[in-house]
Amino acid sequence: MQPLEIAREALRRLSMRQLPPTPDNYRALYHEIAGSKADDLFPERALKLVCSTLPRLNKGHIEFAERLESAVASRSWSAISGALVGLLRAQAAPQRRWTALLKDVFRQLDRKHASFSFAQKQQALQQALDASNGELERLYDSFSELADKWENAQEEKPAARSVEADPIAGAATDNSDAALRDLFARTLETVVASLLISSPELKEEAAELGQVLREVRDMREVDDLAARMRTLLDRLNWVVDDQAEIRAGLLSLLDLLLKNIGELVGDDRWMRGQIESLRSLCDHPLSARELDEVERRLREVISRQGSLRGNIDDAKHQIKLMLAGFVEELGNFTDATSGFGARMEGYAQAIADAEDLVSLQDTIAEVIDATRQMRDTTERSRLQIDTMRERVRLAEAEIERLQLELEQTSEQMRHDPLTGVLNRKGLEESYGKELSRAARRGTLLCLAVLDIDNFKRLNDTYGHNTGDEALLHLVSTVRDCLRPHDTLSRYGGEEFVILLPETSVDDAVVVLQRLQRELTKRYFLANNDKLLITFSAGVTMVQPNETQLAVIERADSAMYKAKATGKNKVVVAPQP
Ligand code: GH3
Ligand code: MG
Ligand code: MG
Repeated sequence: MQPLEIAREALRRLSMRQLPPTPDNYRALYHEIAGSKADDLFPERALKLVCSTLPRLNKGHIEFAERLESAVASRSWSAISGALVGLLRAQAAPQRRWTALLKDVFRQLDRKHASFSFAQKQQALQQALDASNGELERLYDSFSELADKWENAQEEKPAARSVEADPIAGAATDNSDAALRDLFARTLETVVASLLISSPELKEEAAELGQVLREVRDMREVDDLAARMRTLLDRLNWVVDDQAEIRAGLLSLLDLLLKNIGELVGDDRWMRGQIESLRSLCDHPLSARELDEVERRLREVISRQGSLRGNIDDAKHQIKLMLAGFVEELGNFTDATSGFGARMEGYAQAIADAEDLVSLQDTIAEVIDATRQMRDTTERSRLQIDTMRERVRLAEAEIERLQLELEQTSEQMRHDPLTGVLNRKGLEESYGKELSRAARRGTLLCLAVLDIDNFKRLNDTYGHNTGDEALLHLVSTVRDCLRPHDTLSRYGGEEFVILLPETSVDDAVVVLQRLQRELTKRYFLANNDKLLITFSAGVTMVQPNETQLAVIERADSAMYKAKATGKNKVVVAPQP
């Protein structure tokens, strides 16, 4: 049968069997009449035509076209469907990669890089785009490279940028900027300033900076403000250090007092003295140096007082008790001798009332004298008195020994007894503290050695006592001229050392010259003669970790140079 006849017959059977004229029903009847299968109708020609029009621009295109061609050639619908699904899957993968890449690129554009500006990054992207020539793979690679490079680059520090990189934006005075500045200003004026009660100078500076911050309009002022803020911050750190030191000092002082309270009970006057000094200590803001000074003095008073009360008073009391007891006994013993007992009672009373050893000795002599008269009748009494004399002698020797010991311990103390300034031991402590303070704060420390000129002549002419007064005169003048945190100490006979913290060599020279001028104004009176006390001095800068001995040696040789070149002058030691 011809296809036309088959088609006509198929239509006739559709109407005969009263089937709906759908393509499927028609196709089934057609194959029935022709005696063929549905499969035979594979549209090979049409599909091959499609294959021939597929683009083959890259490896992916070629792979897909070849896969489809072979599926068509094998007339396999499932192979054709496999090729199509494969194509869609392959297309989806780069889409996902691109989305991730573009997200990355945008993120990197947004970041503030230290070495790339936004414009530079934009330009790099444009160049990659131009160079890719529309090839997505190439573009993908160069964008990935840029994103990686920016990812690994350092971010800019936010603080540096606000002032230097973008002054115009920084100058903007929108609401949030003004609010922030107001907050900073208030922090400076109220919080910071209120923490600085003990440093009025810093307090004023903090309040002033707050005011400046509020009024800043021109960005050039910001540099000045930042520098002042940095200085304030450094000095605030010092204040914090000082306060920590003061707290530690107060605690150790309190500890010292408590340790001694046990020994002090029962001595009201002493207790009052201690409490008085503690109270005067606490009623004003203290500097760390003042606290050192008070602690040193308190230690000395406590130790001196302790030795005196504990030993000497005890020994004297023992002598009085022994003598009084013995004389009383002697009175009883010699009852038989008229009048003797009464005399002895009088002596006993006199001894008990005696205030010092000199008056005791007189009384003892009288007792011995009286007892001698009784020798014949009271041999036993004589022997007892001899024994007692020996014991008194021993007790006196003990008192002498204790007094000597006390003098020796005074030498170990930190203050010179004549002038009241620090002695060598006190200087050693001060030096250690100032050295570590200077290291901690990175400040300068200077040391000066002073030696009075022609002091021997003054002693020889006016006597040693006048010499002592001249030393006191020098010390009081020096004290008046120095700043509170400078330390004066007596290093030898007429040799003094001054520690000058936070001072350059030039400033130290100025301080010493001012002192020399002051001495020419305040002359010293000796036997109605107006004397001019002068000194020669050597000044040097203390090096980090330098020993006190090394510094003093250097200052000392400068001082000798001052002596050798005419005296009454200040010489700076060359730095090592
Ligand atoms: P120069 O100008 O070279 O320093 O001469 P100088 O006379 O001051 O020095 P020198 O070292 O020759 O003499 C120092 C004198 O100081 C000798 C000593 O008797 C006296 N001296 C030391 N300590 C004391 C003291 O505590 N009191 C008194 N009055 N004199 C003292
Ligand atoms: Mg000398
Ligand atoms: Mg001298």
